[in-house]
Amino acid sequence: MSPEKRPSCDLLLTGGCVVTVDDDRRVLDPGAVAISGERIVAVGTPAELAPFEAGRTVDCAEKAVVPGFVDCHTHLFQYLARGLGEGLELWPWLSGFMWPLGEHISREDARLGALLAGLEAARAGITTLTDNHYAPTDLDTTLAVADSLATVGVRGRVARGMMGPETEVARRGNLAGAMFRYPVDEEIAITREAMAARQGSLVEIWPAPENIVYCDQELVRRAAALAAEFETGWHSHCSEAVTDAPYYLDAYGLRPVEWLHREGLLGNGATLAHAIFLEDAEVAWLGESRTGIAYCPVSHEYIGLGVMRLSDLRRAGAVVGLGNDGASGHRQDMFEQMKHAILLQRVHHKDPTASTAEEAFELATREGARYAGIDAGVIAPGKLADLAVVDLSATHFFPLHRVLAALVYCARGSDVVMTVVNGEVVFEDGRSTRVDEAAVRSEAQMRAGALVERAGLGHLKVAWRKA
Ligand SMILES: [Zn+2]
Repeated sequence: MSPEKRPSCDLLLTGGCVVTVDDDRRVLDPGAVAISGERIVAVGTPAELAPFEAGRTVDCAEKAVVPGFVDCHTHLFQYLARGLGEGLELWPWLSGFMWPLGEHISREDARLGALLAGLEAARAGITTLTDNHYAPTDLDTTLAVADSLATVGVRGRVARGMMGPETEVARRGNLAGAMFRYPVDEEIAITREAMAARQGSLVEIWPAPENIVYCDQELVRRAAALAAEFETGWHSHCSEAVTDAPYYLDAYGLRPVEWLHREGLLGNGATLAHAIFLEDAEVAWLGESRTGIAYCPVSHEYIGLGVMRLSDLRRAGAVVGLGNDGASGHRQDMFEQMKHAILLQRVHHKDPTASTAEEAFELATREGARYAGIDAGVIAPGKLADLAVVDLSATHFFPLHRVLAALVYCARGSDVVMTVVNGEVVFEDGRSTRVDEAAVRSEAQMRAGALVERAGLGHLKVAWRKA
């Protein structure tokens, strides 16, 4: 082959175990991936891709090359209160911990929180974040949060949390108050302006009526219509606590998912976090409409919520991904979520076949990408080049018999050595390629300390909680 005829690429990752999660679920060991611009252009063995003339070649021996992980539900600003707020049921956790924090957080705090936790995500191989940002939600802060993710270099859906007007359910659950700032028209107007400002960029804005159960019904309808207008997804929480559906039933005479179904609001970009407490008919409606569901197992365990009907929802056709869920998940780490996603199901069903490493890996990658509406989540020619490289040379991987099991059960976010988003290396060899992380950490420590005091939560910072 003459030099002129050699194919070229910008980045060649070669010699690693490539877990493609493609339609044939190929695992190439060793394999190679060629990237040009923002897309993957070739996948094969190192020998097959050897003819590529690469701008940069990375030797991935003793490493795994995997699709970048998609976090389907998180709240990055909440990480400013990481480690606080223990032993509370969900609504008291919100009203007594998260709402005071949300009422006192400044634009600069929110911007920094997203930068900090966005960096943490990029370090752990997360290439897309669904950040349900709900405090504060003025236009400039919403755009500042999106800018933080763009600065880190990850793909994002900033789901702008809209509380709207107070509802009867919110009052009954002690959630009403200062967090319910804007009437429906104003919520929609701010979200529309933010969506227009970021339309078509790596970090989009999605409308997010904060919770189907305690938000105004007209707000939910208008949010879904806004998403349809911009051809994006929309996001909300639904049926997260055991009391959610009963509260809704009391107030409106039907269950929340039944209402969504009757209104024609399921599917078409609808994504719901949690959806734990569902009746059979609700599972069927979520499935047939291909509604996105974010399963956040660590958060469900931490708050003591319950167990999502994972296999029922997937069998019915719902698009299920995984989420870290902010301060109740404690870390931006999809390895932890994958492991817990499986173990929680197995304990609940008392059945070691209730979920598998393969299923968890699919949820974290290709299913998450379907949920987020992005052409990624698998390593295949033509797909967006969102990838992570995981170092498998540490002691906790030895002896290495099965790479997939090692990734799901043995690995953690800190084993990631390279993260590629849209063809760009945004994290490598322990450092963000774009942001001074030490400066972000020290500013976050200072700002978060002041925020926690301002919010009246300083008493939670005890060295040892006595029973
Ligand atoms: Zn959440």
